Amino acid sequence: RGSGRFFIGGNWKCNGTIDSVTQLVKDLNAGSVPSTVEIVVSPTFVHLDMVKRTLRAPFQVAAQDCWVSKGGAFTGEVSAEMLHDFGIPWVILGHSERRSLCREDDELVGMKCEYALSQGLKVIACIGETLEQRESGHMWDVIDAQLQAIANHTTIGNWTNMVVAYEPVWAIGTGVVATPEQAQEVHAHVRAWVAKNVNPQVADTLRILYGGSVNDQNCETLANLEDVDGFLVGGASLKGPSFIKICNSEH
Ligand code: PEP
Repeated sequence: RGSGRFFIGGNWKCNGTIDSVTQLVKDLNAGSVPSTVEIVVSPTFVHLDMVKRTLRAPFQVAAQDCWVSKGGAFTGEVSAEMLHDFGIPWVILGHSERRSLCREDDELVGMKCEYALSQGLKVIACIGETLEQRESGHMWDVIDAQLQAIANHTTIGNWTNMVVAYEPVWAIGTGVVATPEQAQEVHAHVRAWVAKNVNPQVADTLRILYGGSVNDQNCETLANLEDVDGFLVGGASLKGPSFIKICNSEH
């Protein structure tokens, strides 16, 4: 296990109304969470500032994406420096929905990591294989290429400002959670890859999150795995009481 604090991310994706977000913030603020866990929730860009202003510590916020370079004539985009200016500490990059639906490739994700880190943001970098890649025997190549692109764009010193989320695409939003064996196998591989290709000390401290159909029923088993240092939670992060339970899953 990485030596950093257990980490729970909540990815709200493209969900929420002013009312539902206000209620979710209320539920989180009323919840009891351990001070030893780092917790970051990620509303949409339009809800981000409102959530940041109303959510109590220790909850932090993350954006779900940002532009690859300095802002300017990039209609529809939000830049890393804008997020930093608003006091948003974290950004999720390379989520599988952006990789598949918005055609973000490994190189673009690596470049986004580099720019966001250079602007003082901390990064939740997402990797993970599709079912087809797993079943055709290409899983390790896919994961290694995703890691390599991130590593190519990250200085050794900046790895302390990054967590890696392993999210098998076939487990995201499907209700099909990875088995503990499947999750542990990939997490151990990621840590070994980082030890070999980046630096053993970075690997020791790196938090590797699991994401994909985590809920308040399966979180405890997964939280006990040797190389699982936290979770990135989608659907279950929209339900305050479930998310609070997941925040309490590490014992
Ligand atoms: C995610 O989108 O990061 C995710 C893990 O989604 P879900 O928990 O809904 O599978």
